[in-house]
Amino acid sequence: MKLLEQLVLTPGVPGREHRVRKLIQSQIKGLFDEVRTDALGSLICVRNARPKTKSGSKKKPLRIMLAAHMDQIGFMVRHIDDKGFLRVNAVGGFDTRNLFARLVSVCPDVNDPKKDLPGVMNPGGKPVHIASAEDRKKVPEVEDLTIDLGLPVAHVKKKVKLGDMVVLRAPFEKIGNTVVSQCMDNRIACWVVIEAIKKLAKSKHNCEVHCVFTVQEEVGLRGAGTAAYGIRPDIGIAIDTTLCCDTPGIPSELRVTEQGKGAALTIMDGASIADLELLETFESVAKKTKTPHQRSILPRGGTDAGAVQRAAAGTKAFTLSCPTRYIHTVTEMVHLADLNACRDLLADYLAQA
Ligand SMILES: [Zn+2]
Repeated sequence: MKLLEQLVLTPGVPGREHRVRKLIQSQIKGLFDEVRTDALGSLICVRNARPKTKSGSKKKPLRIMLAAHMDQIGFMVRHIDDKGFLRVNAVGGFDTRNLFARLVSVCPDVNDPKKDLPGVMNPGGKPVHIASAEDRKKVPEVEDLTIDLGLPVAHVKKKVKLGDMVVLRAPFEKIGNTVVSQCMDNRIACWVVIEAIKKLAKSKHNCEVHCVFTVQEEVGLRGAGTAAYGIRPDIGIAIDTTLCCDTPGIPSELRVTEQGKGAALTIMDGASIADLELLETFESVAKKTKTPHQRSILPRGGTDAGAVQRAAAGTKAFTLSCPTRYIHTVTEMVHLADLNACRDLLADYLAQA
């Protein structure tokens, strides 16, 4: 859990994934035969086949690309006003109803956490004591949000510039049988991929695995598409979070997954339809290994599988998802059993591929 905690507490908005990439690089020593970063910033880690038999080594290994996005939803500084308040541009889709009274970090140097500045983010406007009934009903837009660094304007202007990354700050907590934090979407997938490869590495495997920690997923699956174009995999598997909708106030027919019921096999989402054979293979591996799993459909939203599927001349693609409650808030909640099921199922699938 230490690695997962480090992953969720490391800031990295789309286009500013530097620190996450560095952290992952430090955690994968010895697991891969080749590690490189592509032009957009995706980290590509290749583990060659370790054929199980002599005849296996003569066959061309199946090339499998795993895609786990490193970026998180966040902001970039867009304006510094005369009093030193910051305005931001969103990078990724926020529900602004969740953005009242938040602690944030402004990161003027992508590589140096020591230069981060703490701040508070609130929508502009009147405090509750003097707000009208109408004011109180208003849901703020991202442009209404201001960041207060508690510093004089001259100091702010010296330290902060347009384009600096801003992330929400929230702790990592173990709550009941779950773990809760910001950006479980999608650092849990980075964790799942690293841990699955550690498991896979304990025995031989016929497939060649290209683990891609992708960039800029939250702004339109950008890194996964270019990485797949370069790799030309036979099979592409995105690993990501998905909705649960199993909490009060949501009718059961709108349910996407149920927390604690295992790894989600995504049949389709807004960006891709899973290759049927891949879906069925994952399902049969899960049944054989008695790994908890559930089928799932996400009506809107998509994962890196959408971009991988359509790269170059096309790739058979699938999404392995982890059920996540309260997604795109700072209290994203993941059940430990689901997290472990995703890791195990991915490792078992690769072992038999
Ligand atoms: Zn995601």
